[in-house]
Amino acid sequence: MAAPTTSRRGPGGARNMDDENLTFETSPGVEVVSSFDQMGIKDDLLRGIYGYGFEKPSAIQQRAVLPIINGRDVIAQAQSGTGKTSMISLTVCQIVDTAVREVQALILSPTRELASQTERVMLAIGDHLNVQVHACIGGKSIGEDIRRLENGVHVVSGTPGRVCDMIKRRTLRTRAIKLLVLDEADEMLSRGFKDQIYDVYRYLPPELQVVLISATLPHEILEMTSKFMTEPVRILVKRDELTLEGIKQFFVAVEKEEWKFDTLCDLYDTLTITQAVIFCNTKRKVDWLTEKMRTNNFTVSAMHGDMPQQERDAIMGEFRSGATRVLITTDVWARGLDVQQVSLVINYDLPNNRELYIHRIGRSGRFGRKGVAINFVRKDDIRILRDIEQYYSTQIDEMPMNVADLI
Ligand code: ADP
Ligand code: MG
Repeated sequence: MAAPTTSRRGPGGARNMDDENLTFETSPGVEVVSSFDQMGIKDDLLRGIYGYGFEKPSAIQQRAVLPIINGRDVIAQAQSGTGKTSMISLTVCQIVDTAVREVQALILSPTRELASQTERVMLAIGDHLNVQVHACIGGKSIGEDIRRLENGVHVVSGTPGRVCDMIKRRTLRTRAIKLLVLDEADEMLSRGFKDQIYDVYRYLPPELQVVLISATLPHEILEMTSKFMTEPVRILVKRDELTLEGIKQFFVAVEKEEWKFDTLCDLYDTLTITQAVIFCNTKRKVDWLTEKMRTNNFTVSAMHGDMPQQERDAIMGEFRSGATRVLITTDVWARGLDVQQVSLVINYDLPNNRELYIHRIGRSGRFGRKGVAINFVRKDDIRILRDIEQYYSTQIDEMPMNVADLI
């Protein structure tokens, strides 16, 4: 009898993340190290890694951890949810010397929530090392930032604006920084952030190690890396392997905008099977849709960048704990955020570019879990959907009746 086609799945439906079939375009000389024990990682850190529940490095970790901890400049790309951001925490913990109470590594992320998430993961993995990490992000008390930084920390995980501010005040001293990591690097080097990043970069020591991480690294971004990186080791996935098999993608043809709302209401029971994230393209639309869902007696939470940080934190906390199940949001949530229980993503509006599509649907299907993405497609959107399908050589079928069974 033929072997079941699910043979690549481990217990609980999780796919093996060290999949040999994944192909990378890798610089010559990059080794594949299949266990954390063989990476020369300090014992106290190893204990932290295993204690956090990681047993085996993922495919990208098997390739990129070693060059990073060996001090090379690295450009690492892999599919969403395959352990890239976790790899930052792990390698930074290895690189910093906790006997030196100065900032030695600076990690920049595009959103406050992602910078905080990285801080949290690093504190957990680095538990036995006593590594001092500080999330230096907008919307928080400047006084507290100053106090923490003056007290001395080893690692700063921040957003560009606040970090730049702290550097210019000379509160964040840069002389001992040996490593700069840009998570979601293509976003960090895109129009909105680029000047701020270069601004920060100017203050960093010349022999700096630079690491870039993202699921998407368009050509124009790779081209500009020669300006601030030295012979980087490149570990990249091909575009047509970027969508994860574990995430099933569908569309619902809604004809016109007004039909989207009823379609969403019809799907509400499916949304609450586990947890779901619904993306709209504007903050105003998030507010509008949230209000309209609530008026119709559906329980939803909402988050966007115009909310006070305290409220954003509270909403994140509730969603992470599972207290709320359906989150309506903007692209502030598109990149990096990791809530393992999210198994459904709805594009109420199609995203404005191809990269965002990959990041949005990648909020589900974390680390080999199953995920479903449903795109609401107006008549005049079909072209955009077909473009995404073609660009990533993926398949987006019409949503089946039994979609709930796939979650
Ligand atoms: P990415 O940045 O590639 O999207 P993350 O680093 O956010 O991925 O990791 C996605 C999820 O996988 C997280 O919940 C993380 O804890 C988990 N994870 C990462 N690496 C491992 C590993 N080696 N073993 C088990 N789980 C892992
Ligand atoms: Mg990430």
